[in-house]
Amino acid sequence: MAGRRYELKAATRALTPTGGFLKGFAFSLNPYVGCAFGAGGGCPFCYVRMLPVARAEHGRWGEWVIAKSNLPELLERELGALEKSGRLNSATVFMSSATDPYQGIERRLMLTRGALEAFARRRVRRLLVQTRSPIVERDIDLLRALGESAIVSLTLETDDESVRRALAPTSPSVERRLRTCERLRAAGIFVQIAIAPMMPNDPERFARIVDAAADRAVVDTFFAGDGSGGRRSRALGMGELYSRLGYARWFRPGAERGLVAALKARMGEDRVLFSREGFSAV
Ligand code: SF4
Repeated sequence: MAGRRYELKAATRALTPTGGFLKGFAFSLNPYVGCAFGAGGGCPFCYVRMLPVARAEHGRWGEWVIAKSNLPELLERELGALEKSGRLNSATVFMSSATDPYQGIERRLMLTRGALEAFARRRVRRLLVQTRSPIVERDIDLLRALGESAIVSLTLETDDESVRRALAPTSPSVERRLRTCERLRAAGIFVQIAIAPMMPNDPERFARIVDAAADRAVVDTFFAGDGSGGRRSRALGMGELYSRLGYARWFRPGAERGLVAALKARMGEDRVLFSREGFSAV
């Protein structure tokens, strides 16, 4: 996008202790601050844009991205320290919690790839890579090398391409993301589909697609998952946007029940997780 500001900045640390929503993970890891998927009306539901980390920067969410230029070196050092203290084998890492680690700039900067190389040298108990981007396919070699320690969690909010176009216009298509799941699984990598936030869908069809494409599903909603019982999503105007698009019945607590039931009927209870508990599952 014209006018987007990219900056390289040295960070002071790679791994950040987590809590709250990701309480099952000891650390989060964000190679970038800011997210290009949020530009020009992309991800209107993204509440990260309201958090202090986003507001500290000039410009609208999506119009700037800061790359942590020294992330691989920092991570190497921090994993080394965990190893020395005997905590490496039990460490659990969520990459990334506040941005997408495979946004376009990653093709060139390869900071996420550098992080995976560090994890390949010093394996943690669990590394969960959360993304909506097919660029993750580039790193299948490293993800495969991480064996059972790695999970790729691919965001897929709906099975309906017209809904995707209306609500997540800068994100890859439903079909493209499903192809990524297929390629990851063909390489033996554990794939989770993160239906988060759940958008209008055809529950039976979506459940069938997810069952075929993923080892596990996690469902989240504006009301369970925005960290404020839906207040942040309302403040972002999601209720009005849903009404304008004719999706009003989907913007309410409990709208996910039909999909969750369809997923569980098809995949079994164990393969279907929900919201905070689900995202904390290591
Ligand atoms: S990809 Fe995720 S972090 Fe990036 S703008 Fe969209 S919702 Fe926000």
